[in-house]
Amino acid sequence: MKTERVEIFDTTLRDGEQSPGCSMNLEEKVRLARKLEGLGVDIIEAGFPIASEGDFAAVKAVAAECRDVTVAALCRTAEQDVMRAAEALRGAAHPRIHTFVATSDIHLDYKLKKTRLEVIEMTRNAVRLAVDYLCDVFAAAVDSGATILNVPDTVGYTLPNEFAELVRHVRERVVGDRTDITISVHCHNDLGLAVANSLAAISAGARQIECTINGIGERAGNASLEEVVMAMSVRADSLPFLTNINTREIYSTSQLLSQIISFGVQPNKAIVGRNAFAHEAGIHQHGVISNPLCYEIMTPESVGVTANELVLGKHSGRHALALRYEEMGYTLSRAELDSAYGRFSELADRKKRIYDQDLISFISSELDVQTAVANREPWTQVATA
Ligand code: MN
Repeated sequence: MKTERVEIFDTTLRDGEQSPGCSMNLEEKVRLARKLEGLGVDIIEAGFPIASEGDFAAVKAVAAECRDVTVAALCRTAEQDVMRAAEALRGAAHPRIHTFVATSDIHLDYKLKKTRLEVIEMTRNAVRLAVDYLCDVFAAAVDSGATILNVPDTVGYTLPNEFAELVRHVRERVVGDRTDITISVHCHNDLGLAVANSLAAISAGARQIECTINGIGERAGNASLEEVVMAMSVRADSLPFLTNINTREIYSTSQLLSQIISFGVQPNKAIVGRNAFAHEAGIHQHGVISNPLCYEIMTPESVGVTANELVLGKHSGRHALALRYEEMGYTLSRAELDSAYGRFSELADRKKRIYDQDLISFISSELDVQTAVANREPWTQVATA
């Protein structure tokens, strides 16, 4: 049943990185790229080389470091853009040039002052008109040798049924019987529909999804890699597609990104949020302790969340705490340990069980920690007693 493969195109380092608070330096980009390669993404979009020296250097460094994955560089259609991307990718084992051009009339003609309503009306008309032009542009790209056609919803405006129809239209008009051409999608989350639109596109024939860890990206972000992948995994009955992602690496990748950039994920974020596998209501706690399937459609372990019950409690000392951090891969300085221990003691007074997620929250950003402590609710045990 699971035969067709969907490629995961990760743009955490490009679209993700260009959003507020998400800047990464070269060393951080390379570290995250290595992690993404281990996670099993098919393509890492490492930057937009013409945009800055930093992006150029990042693409070059990621291409040198990541030999098992395709490394993509973004460029516009001007010759110097394309050449700059090619130059950055010169040393890549599997290079890919990702070029883009605006097709909607609204981007082509209007950078004018208009009211919001006029802009919405213009968008409706432009989208209707642009579809045929979009197909002509794609046909020209295919004639010139392009093998992947990326359909973006840059402003996050579309609805799943519309977007599926657009993809189907491109498939019928441009791709036809050719098996060497892949339709890709790039969806933004302004209406919270980036994942839904991406999955609708897959059902309509797209076979590559551009997405980011934790859904970071311009404005409300991009389609979240972890949600897209787990939707296809958990609902394989209606989405019978394979990806190359090692889902057990999802949580640690999400954590690494949160440590690098300036913010974490909202507590109720699907898959990777602190509360994604937490249960508080008595009836739910009882059900989950009896059998996690009562309220969990996937196990925490399947995405790499250790449901490991800690023996750490309010009587534990700094040494035990430092040891547990080391087991999780964090080596803390004396000052960091003191600070984490203070938070640990405070929480242990109020809460019976302390989980790895709690410990991680003690060492993430100050603001996040304060929120976490203020809103702290007991986690239920998700492993067997
Ligand atoms: Mn984008």
